[in-house]
Amino acid sequence: MQDWQMISCQKPKLLLVDDQRVNILVLHELFREDCEVFMATGGEQALQVCRTVLPDLILLDVHMEGIDGHEVCRRLKAAPDTRDIPIIFVTAQGAEQDEVRGLELGAVDFIVKPINPVIVKARVNTHLTLKRQSDILRSFALLDGLTGVANRRKFDEELELNWRRSLREQSPLSVIMIDVDHFKRFNDRYGHLAGDAALQAVARALNDVIKRPYDLLARYGGEEFVCVLPSTGQVEAVQIAERMQVSVRALKIAHLDSAVEQMLTVSLGVATVVPNSETTSDALLAEADRQLYQAKQAGRARISSCA
Ligand code: GH3
Ligand code: MG
Ligand code: MG
Repeated sequence: MQDWQMISCQKPKLLLVDDQRVNILVLHELFREDCEVFMATGGEQALQVCRTVLPDLILLDVHMEGIDGHEVCRRLKAAPDTRDIPIIFVTAQGAEQDEVRGLELGAVDFIVKPINPVIVKARVNTHLTLKRQSDILRSFALLDGLTGVANRRKFDEELELNWRRSLREQSPLSVIMIDVDHFKRFNDRYGHLAGDAALQAVARALNDVIKRPYDLLARYGGEEFVCVLPSTGQVEAVQIAERMQVSVRALKIAHLDSAVEQMLTVSLGVATVVPNSETTSDALLAEADRQLYQAKQAGRARISSCA
């Protein structure tokens, strides 16, 4: 078992790019057991696969018809979604210029044709291990310490990513802002530690509602949470907000100083948009915030959404 297989039970995703099918098949044979292998026989196809599956590592042939390997690398490094994918160039023997150019473009390594299976396996394993380690470190840096849900930074990244994806696909994108009602009074009455425990319980209750892998709940700051829901229209987003409200209520955390109910409650603001080039993700977030403010103004423990 390899190092990276011990850290995660998911197989790493490896993309093989070469315009000679026979080369791809040789590499496929080498890695099909340990990796989920994707294949592309041209630059355009490689870029397409990268955008949709986000591989953990790419073995990229330099010389191809059309968009060559160097150009594929340059484009991947220029896009925020794909710039962290490590690339190993596959070059012809003695083509030192290709190697230099590849490394300058940001490749992590290169291997030389004809392929030596032992060398290729060793290099690929090294870079998959490094990739897995950096993914783990990155995931820690993107978690909220108190509640264990994603933090603001992770949310900002995901919102941007989903904004671009929804713009491309012309699908609706929803955001829900959630704020605990009269939480200052909760801390004043029950103490800060009880407040912390309540926030942890609220985070769990909200997270329980989210089922799809692309949906994300994050702590936005203080006693505020935010949720991004791709491919979700307004009606569906309001339904999710309703379930969140029910889920928090079901915690039955006493809050005797709340002016709303004698239980801990939340207010929620929902905003939905089909992205276009005239508006931004910031505007969507601002709208969710405005809706949250409306919910507070209207008496708290309720949902407000843009119709
Ligand atoms: P509203 O219903 O208008 O939202 O009233 P509120 O009291 O919840 O809002 P306000 O913004 O006045 O106060 C937020 C409170 O949340 C104040 C702050 O002490 C508390 N808070 C923020 N972060 C934490 C935390 O990490 N732990 C605890 N225990 N309390 C927190
Ligand atoms: Mg509050
Ligand atoms: Mg607040």
